[in-house]
Amino acid sequence: MNEQLQPLKKPARTGKAGRSGTQDDIVYAHIFEAILEQRLAPGTKLSEEALGEIFGVSRTIIRRALSRLAHESVVLLRPNRGAVVASPTVEEARQVFFSRRMVERAITELAVQHATPEQLNELRHMVREERDSFSRGDRGAGIRLSGEFHLKLAEAAGNAPLVSFQRSLVSQTSLIIAQYESGNRSHCSYDEHMQLIDAIEARDVEQAVSLMMHHMDHIDSKLNLDEESASDDLHAVFSHLLKKPKASSKG
Ligand SMILES: [Zn+2]
Repeated sequence: MNEQLQPLKKPARTGKAGRSGTQDDIVYAHIFEAILEQRLAPGTKLSEEALGEIFGVSRTIIRRALSRLAHESVVLLRPNRGAVVASPTVEEARQVFFSRRMVERAITELAVQHATPEQLNELRHMVREERDSFSRGDRGAGIRLSGEFHLKLAEAAGNAPLVSFQRSLVSQTSLIIAQYESGNRSHCSYDEHMQLIDAIEARDVEQAVSLMMHHMDHIDSKLNLDEESASDDLHAVFSHLLKKPKASSKG
């Protein structure tokens, strides 16, 4: 008989998934959280058997959770070879960031119109927790709270499709940061989050959108997408050797 799955220690404050709910909700939420916290590296193999043992549930449940993550593009399901954590290419990363900017802009505009005082309070509370996590050295929790801030903001915008799109974009962003961060491990600035809440509370759409776009620029600039990144394509890696003109083998 399977043990009852433990819910997340600290229930995610946002998103419909994962608190109570079914066993596959809980498995989904644990893996989603590990990706958001950048504890699960891009490319990691997600063995159904191993996960089944870890969570004490059947492979059917694991498969359901993985297929949900695949819908959000953070897990790849490979026929006959099992699931892996997605490892976005530079081009995919650029596309995610492009979409993310558009979605964040729309969310910010809508949040200026629709965010309630309670939602703004919750957002402030989250940013304080985010800051406290970083200052006590709990980077994983800080990064997760940064991502959850953006999800909460999407909820405050009051548009359901945007919330689900944002969920996928925020978790993909986490994978991209884990894969392409340059030097200092990057994350959102909680000061910028706070300024954003101020502008939304002041119902100043221009200021709020401009702050959000700067915020996106900062995340973008910390990544190393401009340079050629490591590749697993042997021909690409050794292309300089292959390009050699056909040597006349003998003099
Ligand atoms: Zn942020």
